[in-house]
Amino acid sequence: MIPNILFAARPEQWDIYEKPLKSALSEAGVTANLALDLAPEEVDYMVYAPNSAVQDFTPYTRLKAVLNLWAGVENIVGNQTLKVPLARMVDHGLTQGMVEWVTGHVLRHHLGMDAHILGQDGVWRKTIPPLAEDRPVTVLGLGVLGQACAKALRGLGFPVTGWGRSARTVPGITCLSGDEGLRTALQRAEILVLLLPKTAETENLMNAERLAMLPKGAMIVNPGRGPLIDDDALLAALDTGHVGHATLDVFRVEPLPPAHPYWAHPRVTVTPHIASETRPITAARVIIENVRRGETGAPYLHLVDRAKGY
Ligand code: NDP
Repeated sequence: MIPNILFAARPEQWDIYEKPLKSALSEAGVTANLALDLAPEEVDYMVYAPNSAVQDFTPYTRLKAVLNLWAGVENIVGNQTLKVPLARMVDHGLTQGMVEWVTGHVLRHHLGMDAHILGQDGVWRKTIPPLAEDRPVTVLGLGVLGQACAKALRGLGFPVTGWGRSARTVPGITCLSGDEGLRTALQRAEILVLLLPKTAETENLMNAERLAMLPKGAMIVNPGRGPLIDDDALLAALDTGHVGHATLDVFRVEPLPPAHPYWAHPRVTVTPHIASETRPITAARVIIENVRRGETGAPYLHLVDRAKGY
C-alpha cells in the first residue's frame, strides 16, 4: 500500500515545503501520497513541527513515525500520546546556517567590531584585538551544531573547549564532560557559545554560580534555548560588567516582550530566533530519507532519545 504522509507543521509552511518534499520523493524513488489534510487513521508518517495544531496523537492509529522539521524537540519530547519513533531535524542547511551565525557573532565580539561600526564620530579609535589563537572559546553542547561550530571556530584559530554529557574526542577540540569539566570549560571561556537543548537538566545551567566562573568580561552567545540561562542572574552579571556582553537569539518567551530588560540593556544584543532555519530543499531530503527507511525496514536517522529529552 502506498504510504500517506501528512504535512502537520503549520499550514502556512505548506507552500514552502510542498515542492521540495515532492521533489525529494521523486529523487529518492519513493511513491507516497503527501497531503495537508488526511483522516488521522490513514496517516503513516507525519511531517511535524512542535508548534503544530496536532498535539494529541491518539487518533493516528496507523502512524509509523513523526518527522520533525526542527532540531529542538522540547515541546514534543514529553508528549505521552506519541508512541512511535520521533526523528529530529539534522540538515546540512541548518548546520551551515548555525556555523555562519555563531562564527559571525563570535568574530564581532573577538574583534570588538562595535567600537568602529557604532562609533562613526570622528574619533580615531585604534584598538588592536588579540589574535584568535589567544582568545579561548568554549562551546557548551557538542552535538551536531555544537561540534560544527567548534570545528569552524578552531579553523579560525581559536583554542576551543567543548562540553557535553558524554566523554568524546573531536580532533582539535578539548572535549570535557561532567561537573568538573564544566567548571574548567567556563573558567577559560572568554567567549561562551551555548548550543545545548532545553531539558530538565540544562534549564538554568547558566545560573549565578556558573556565570561567576567565567573570566571577567566574558561574552556569551546563546543560540541554544532561552531557559539555559537564568535571566535575572545574567542581567546582574551584565550590570556589574562581569559578563561583558550577551548576544541572545532565544528566550523563555518568544517573541521577547517589548518591555523585557534585555531589549534596553547596553550590553545585550537581541536577535529574533534567527540563528539558523531549517532549509526546505535539504530538509525535505532528510524527511523523505526517513520515509524510505521506514518503508524498507531500515533504522530511522536522527531519532530522539525520549528518556534523555533530546
Ligand atoms: P544535539 O542533540 O545534536 O546535541 C546536543 C548536545 O547537548 C550534545 O552534545 C549533548 O551531549 C549535549 N547535552 C544535552 N544535555 C546535556 C547535559 N545535561 N549536560 C551536558 N551536555 C548535554 O543537538 P543539536 O546540536 O542539533 O542542537 C542543539 C540545540 O540547538 C537544539 O536543541 C536547539 O535547542 C538549538 N537550535 C537553535 C536554533 C536557532 O535558530 N536558534 C536552530 C537549531 C537548533 P551528548 O552528545 O553527550 O549527548
